[in-house]
Amino acid sequence: MTAEELLQCVAQEVVACQRCALYRNTVHGVPGEGSPQAEVMFVGEGPGYHEDRQGRPFVGPAGAFLNELLASVGLDRGTVFITNVVKHRPPENRDPLPEEIAACSDYLTRQIEAINPKVIVTLGRFSMARFFPTARIGQIHGQAKLLDGRLVVCMYHPAAALHRAELRQTVIDDFKRAIPAALAEAKRLAILGKLGTAEKKDDAPPPEQLTMF
Ligand code: URA
Repeated sequence: MTAEELLQCVAQEVVACQRCALYRNTVHGVPGEGSPQAEVMFVGEGPGYHEDRQGRPFVGPAGAFLNELLASVGLDRGTVFITNVVKHRPPENRDPLPEEIAACSDYLTRQIEAINPKVIVTLGRFSMARFFPTARIGQIHGQAKLLDGRLVVCMYHPAAALHRAELRQTVIDDFKRAIPAALAEAKRLAILGKLGTAEKKDDAPPPEQLTMF
């Protein structure tokens, strides 16, 4: 199957998903959207009010800020892929529960496998925890780390920057510095044959030792 077909399968399952109770109070499942050939994939936390209404990720105020951040590094939504750790909106935008994240986990795994992005950008602590369960966002934000043959950059959530003025410039600076640098580094590693998928796991030192910048 092509990447597009694989993503369509995931999307069809997400819209009908009843693996956990989250679907009960929602209008739409939100599988994610963007290019099946995306080099950069953004992973947020979960749909909010506007995303639930439209069935699309990051279309509310946090999405407007994300669009600005993308534009600041010459990217647009059509060339990247944007999704979330949980695909249905948690009630009142509460934090997703561990069992909800676990129930949804395989959708994200399959989206990553289908797209095989060079760089994954996590937005907020729940998506960071998917890749670095013990990390602290205050310590690793804006750093690219090699994990399972792929670069992962953890960012503060754009919504956090909307609520906390002091984070706004940090998020803008992290984006401008880390995303172009991670893409350039991914291309360099690909040429050296060091970028790949999980086969490299066993040889790879722990991610903490692999901070690129
Ligand atoms: N916040 C998220 O984490 N995801 C969205 O899709 C929207 C807001």
